[in-house]
Amino acid sequence: MKVICVTGGVLSGIGKGITGASIGAILKAAGYQIFMQKFDGYLNVDPGTMNPIEHGEVFVTDDGTETDLDIGHYERYIDTNMTKNSSWTTGRIYQEIFERERKGEYLGKTVQVISHVASLVKEKIKEGFTQSGADISIVEIGGTVGDMENEYLIESVRQLRQELGAENVVFVHLVYVPYLGASKELKTKPAQNSVRDLRSRGIDPDILVVRADMPVEEDIIRKLSLMCGLPIQCVIPSATVKSIYEVPVNYQKHVLGNTLLQALHFPQTQIDLSKWEQLVDHIQNAKEVKKIAMVGKYVSLEDAYYSLNEGLKVAGYRKDIKIQIDFVSAEEIEKQGTDMLLGYSGICVPGGFGTRGIEGMVMAAQFARENKIPYLGICLGSQIMAIEFARNVLGYPDATSEEFFPDAQHQVIHLMEHQKGIEKKGGTMRLGSYDCALTKGSLAEKVYGKLQIAERHRHRYEFNNAYRPEFEEKGFLISGTSLDGELAEVVEIKDHPYMIATQAHPELKSRPLHPHPLFVGFIEAMKGG
Ligand code: GLN
Repeated sequence: MKVICVTGGVLSGIGKGITGASIGAILKAAGYQIFMQKFDGYLNVDPGTMNPIEHGEVFVTDDGTETDLDIGHYERYIDTNMTKNSSWTTGRIYQEIFERERKGEYLGKTVQVISHVASLVKEKIKEGFTQSGADISIVEIGGTVGDMENEYLIESVRQLRQELGAENVVFVHLVYVPYLGASKELKTKPAQNSVRDLRSRGIDPDILVVRADMPVEEDIIRKLSLMCGLPIQCVIPSATVKSIYEVPVNYQKHVLGNTLLQALHFPQTQIDLSKWEQLVDHIQNAKEVKKIAMVGKYVSLEDAYYSLNEGLKVAGYRKDIKIQIDFVSAEEIEKQGTDMLLGYSGICVPGGFGTRGIEGMVMAAQFARENKIPYLGICLGSQIMAIEFARNVLGYPDATSEEFFPDAQHQVIHLMEHQKGIEKKGGTMRLGSYDCALTKGSLAEKVYGKLQIAERHRHRYEFNNAYRPEFEEKGFLISGTSLDGELAEVVEIKDHPYMIATQAHPELKSRPLHPHPLFVGFIEAMKGG
C-alpha cells in the first residue's frame, strides 16, 4: 500500500486540494492509478446541507455521495471518478463510531479518540486504497496543523506511517510564506514554525510545498531547505499562478513526481505532462473574450458554482476563447429588467434551491429564447426553461414549480407521486449518476455525439409529464429521458440556435483534459452568434 498524505500549515485556504490533486495528475501521467481522499475536521456528516456561500458548491460523485469542491479538484486533475470513500468528515467518522458502539462492537471497552477513532481513520484509508484498486492513495488532511479539531487526524496518519513504513507513507506539507512590505521580502519563519509543529506531532515531512503570492526565489528555497532539514529538491516553490491548471506542470519542473516515486520506492518512469502543457498553452493563447451572464441566486461567491465555472472556462480554452463569467443577480434583473443582459454572448442559469430570484431567472430565459441568445440551463435552469415556456408560449401565466408555490394550479415542475412524504432534508434527493436516452436527431444527440449518456443529479423536483404533449407540440422538445422514458432529463427549444438544459449537473463530469460536450456546444453557439 502506498499513501501520500497532504497536510497544511500557516494558513488555511492556500490550496491543499489543488496541491494534492496536482500531485495526483503528475503520478497519473507517470502511469499510476490514483485514488484520493479528504478528511475534514468539521462535524457535519456531509456537506450536502451546508450553505454554498459558506462552504462552496456541493460536489456529487457517480455513486451519489455529496462531497465538497476539493473532491471536484481531485476528479478533474486525476481524471478518475471518486466515490463515497473519498470524502470523510469528523461527523461521518463519529456517526460510524456511535453505530458500532451501540451495536456493542467494542465489547465493553472504553471507546476513545486515540485508539478507536484514529483506528477507524486508518481503516478508511486502507479501505479507500483497496476498494479503488489504485496504485497510490493521496490523502488530504483538512485544516492546518495545530487546529484542535484536526489533531486526531494528524495522529491517525502518523500511526499509519508507523504501521506501514516510511517507504509506503510519504508526507507533503504545504506552507505559506508571507510578503513583508516594509522589508520587501518573503518571510519563512511561519513556515519553519509550522514544520516544527508537524514534527512535534511525530511527523517528519518528506516534501515541503511553498506557496507565495509571488515567485519564490532560490534563496528562500535554500533557507527553508537548511532550516527545515530537507534536501533542496524536496522544497518546491509554488507561486500563485494565473490558472490553477499550471500547477502540475510547474511542480514537475522541479521533478516533484520523480522525487515522490523515489520516496515511495517506485521505479523511475517517463512522466508525460504534454496534455497539461497543451492545456496551459491554450489558456495562455486564448485571446478572444466571450462573456457569459450567470444568472443565479448566489452572486457573491464564485465557489458556489465552482465546477460550472471551470467547465465553461475549459470548454472555452478548447476553442481558444477566454470565457468571462459575470455573475448577474437574478433579483437585480427583477428590479432593473433584462437590459442587464445586453452584451452577453450566452446566458446560463445554474442550479439552485428556494424561491429567491426565480422571477429574474424566468425573465432571463425569456430574453434568451426571444432574442435567440445561446442559453444553457443546469438543473434549476432547466426547470426555469420549462416554467418560462409554459407561461409565455403555452399561456399559463401562473406556471411554476411545486417547490416555489405548492398550491399553484399549473405546476409544470413537481414532486412525483412516489417522492411525496419525504421529509428529512439530508441525503433525500435524486443523487448520483443516472442513464439517459437521447432523441435521435435532437440537438442533444448532435452535441453529445451519441444516443445514451449518463449524468449526475442532485435535485428533488421533476418535469410534470401531464404537460409533455403540449410542450412538445409547441416546439419544446424533451430530448433526453430516463431509460424508461419517465423522467425528462434534457430539454431544448426547436427553433433556437442553442437553447438547451439538463436536469442533471454536467459540470460534475467536465474535466480539464475532456471538456464537457454541452459546454463546448454552448461555446460554439456563442461563437456563431
Ligand atoms: N431546486 C430544484 C430541485 O430540487 C433544482 C435543484 C438544483 O438545481 N440542483 O429540483
